[in-house]
Amino acid sequence: MKLFDFNKYFPDEKACRKAFKEMRDREGVVCQHCGSHDVVWLESKQQYQCKHCRHRTTLRSGTVMHGSKLPFMYWFIAMHLLTATKKSISAAELQRQLGHKRYQRLVTKQEHP
Ligand SMILES: [Zn+2]
Repeated sequence: MKLFDFNKYFPDEKACRKAFKEMRDREGVVCQHCGSHDVVWLESKQQYQCKHCRHRTTLRSGTVMHGSKLPFMYWFIAMHLLTATKKSISAAELQRQLGHKRYQRLVTKQEHP
């Protein structure tokens, strides 16, 4: 996908968030409390809720975005740059492309479980 198309498919944060949810739905969401796959999406809360124990899971929870405050769009652009470039892209280059000041904030490990 070219960057032009990328902008067409993911023009804003809302579109990115929606696409991310669709990805999670395809993979299947598992309740982190009881392990059930039986969850419903609460549109008003923007969270999944387990049908069994009613435990709620955020859209980011259990993903690379877990604990991140960065916008979804940021991650979509980062993922796009990582997959669209044939040659590997350095962290510094990614940082430059995203106009981000601090490389550390791109770290995807789960900092706040
Ligand atoms: Zn549950």
